[in-house]
Amino acid sequence: MQVDLRHPEFQAAIPILKQIEAAGFEAYFVGGCVRDALLDLPIHDVDIATSAYPQEVKQIFKRTVDTGIQHGTVTVLDHGHGYEITTFRTETGYQDFRRPDQVTFVRSLKEDQLRRDFTINALAARHDGTIIDNFGGLQDLDAHLLRAVGNAHDRFHEDALRMMRAVRFESQLGFQLEEQTARALKDNAPLLQHIATERIAAEFIRLLLGIKRSAGLTSFIQSELYRYCPGLADGGAALTSYEALPDQQLQQPGAAWALLVYLLDTPAAAFMKKWKQANNLSAEVQAAQRILPALLNDTADNWALFQCGQPALAVALEAAQLLAPGFDQAAVQTRYDALSIKSAKELAVNGGDLIQAGFKPGREMGQTLAKMVQAVVAGKLPNDRAALLATIKN
Ligand code: ATP
Ligand code: MG
Repeated sequence: MQVDLRHPEFQAAIPILKQIEAAGFEAYFVGGCVRDALLDLPIHDVDIATSAYPQEVKQIFKRTVDTGIQHGTVTVLDHGHGYEITTFRTETGYQDFRRPDQVTFVRSLKEDQLRRDFTINALAARHDGTIIDNFGGLQDLDAHLLRAVGNAHDRFHEDALRMMRAVRFESQLGFQLEEQTARALKDNAPLLQHIATERIAAEFIRLLLGIKRSAGLTSFIQSELYRYCPGLADGGAALTSYEALPDQQLQQPGAAWALLVYLLDTPAAAFMKKWKQANNLSAEVQAAQRILPALLNDTADNWALFQCGQPALAVALEAAQLLAPGFDQAAVQTRYDALSIKSAKELAVNGGDLIQAGFKPGREMGQTLAKMVQAVVAGKLPNDRAALLATIKN
């Protein structure tokens, strides 16, 4: 079996694989890039695995960076591009359900494939496109199945994040969990407690942004993985509502979160904090949460649109569209675009103008400016300096 390596990301990296082979070692494209190429999906970055030990990789190439040398990863710099090259390795220990206690470099590709999470992620490709499939990954790729490499129960015990990866791939690829893998997910869900929130969040958001979100959510709910996620312990009903939404792929992470807090009916600020999400994303979700009910019952006035602001409005509109099929996003966006100012800074008069007009700096002046912003946003006054100053004089 061959994989088509015409994609520029592969083409650029092929000389690196050849160079490693010329030095007497094995080198392969591995992991997600091989899977995605076989599925005809876009390739983001290529991962390379080799039988050469890190010190040997460093001898082959002039310019390298020790990115994660203790785990076997060396970055090779080539024509302004960095390639991560990881030595074949086995992992043992996993006393904490998340990290191997010991990483051992090995010379065998098969052993390296054995440590990987799912069969479809354990495929390797030579520089000529030949696939090396030691665990039935090609067959599972064809059947759209996510099957743990080896014993699913043991694999989830070793690293509980793999359970979140399973439901993420279900949604991202539209694949199904193979039976043993699905059972192991159910049996081991409580182990998710041992995983850092940030890592759970990274997988969860990809689940929500996937093409088959409902399928990912179904497993997330049925396995009860959600019970071990921040703020979701009692979120079964809300998640079931989420699962029932049309499977239209979400474009914005903010929209995915906004839908979740809407369905949970929980304040976005605290929820986003529990999930350790960035402040700017949280602010967007909060603003979307504020305007969403008004959007849904068509009572969002200009002032509400103005206060929401553009990035959050786009998020709220995307969420509204899923909650109310037929919702007219464009009409609201047109109304927003037509606002004569989008921020208070755009008002045609400022504090300096008011002082010239006889105001004293202070509270009253601030209130006057705020009133003018409201009047302009509402369309009661034009955003015109002369007109606004004339209004002030009266
Ligand atoms: P994508 O890049 O689209 O998220 P991916 O499969 O490449 O998907 P990465 O997190 O980039 O995911 O990991 C690269 C590869 O490393 C995977 O394909 C898999 O073989 C292996 N891998 C990653 N995380 C784990 C894990 N927790 N347990 C076992 N193998 C893993
Ligand atoms: Mg990857």
